[in-house]
Amino acid sequence: MLLFGPSGNSEIFYQQGYKSSLQMPAWLKAMGLNAYEYSCTRGIRFGPETAQKLGDIAKEHNIRLSVHAPYFINLASMDPEAIRKSEKYILDTVEAAEHLQADRVVVHIGSPSKADRKEAFERAYNNLFNIIEKLKIMGSKVHICPETMGKKNQIGSLHEILEICSIDDILIPTIDFGHLHAVNNGALNSKEDFRRIFEQILDRLGDKRGRLLHMHYSRIEFTEKGGEKKHWTYDDRQFGPDFEYLAECLIEYKIEGTLIAETAGTMAEDAVKLMGIYNKIKEDCLFTLENI
Ligand SMILES: [Zn+2]
Repeated sequence: MLLFGPSGNSEIFYQQGYKSSLQMPAWLKAMGLNAYEYSCTRGIRFGPETAQKLGDIAKEHNIRLSVHAPYFINLASMDPEAIRKSEKYILDTVEAAEHLQADRVVVHIGSPSKADRKEAFERAYNNLFNIIEKLKIMGSKVHICPETMGKKNQIGSLHEILEICSIDDILIPTIDFGHLHAVNNGALNSKEDFRRIFEQILDRLGDKRGRLLHMHYSRIEFTEKGGEKKHWTYDDRQFGPDFEYLAECLIEYKIEGTLIAETAGTMAEDAVKLMGIYNKIKEDCLFTLENI
């Protein structure tokens, strides 16, 4: 089954008078959604009791939680202190995820900055390898989900993320389709463009792990020089990528896991739209099959 939900809380959630993320699971369930990515991108700002409480409420409402780790992580840095801090951010987010009963932590790998990209990638690979070893010794079952990135100076091309995921089976890629579109100058315009992504993933990770993906989607503005500039809402149709081809591929390749809408301010409403498009295409496929 493929789950749909938002990253963080929509503006309309607050406009309707809600104040706390503890109210989100019931609100999302009422919208027909079943996933919620809790954003710790600016740091972990809750204690174990609150996390436990949110985890219990989410479970009660059948909302699958994932957590986005802080943006400050840079596993490619040459500075040992930056690596030590990055490791702590990851371990702390995993601990928070365990309190939340969330089984996925989304991580940005980092940036080579002015260093050679290949060497920076190798540093990041080795640093993540060591962190995964520690997590395994600790007995953690949380999946670390390295994300494909939208800016050209960030580590996180599809190739790099799949390479990093070869470290261990506990790693699941976060495929951010908006980012892949932006970093490749608007490359996702046909079903064939999306197919190439899924072929690479399944080829590299195999049929089982390659289907249990973590995914982000939003329309995105980009520049030729830098890549990602800004996330937009689903209705900002002047920006790609369109969701329909992606939805067709999700069905064709039998992708499960979680798809998170990361659009600007309307994440939950857009997640409902994406889920609707996906379900409609799925029904049409079944109808066609039954009538052959
Ligand atoms: Zn991210």
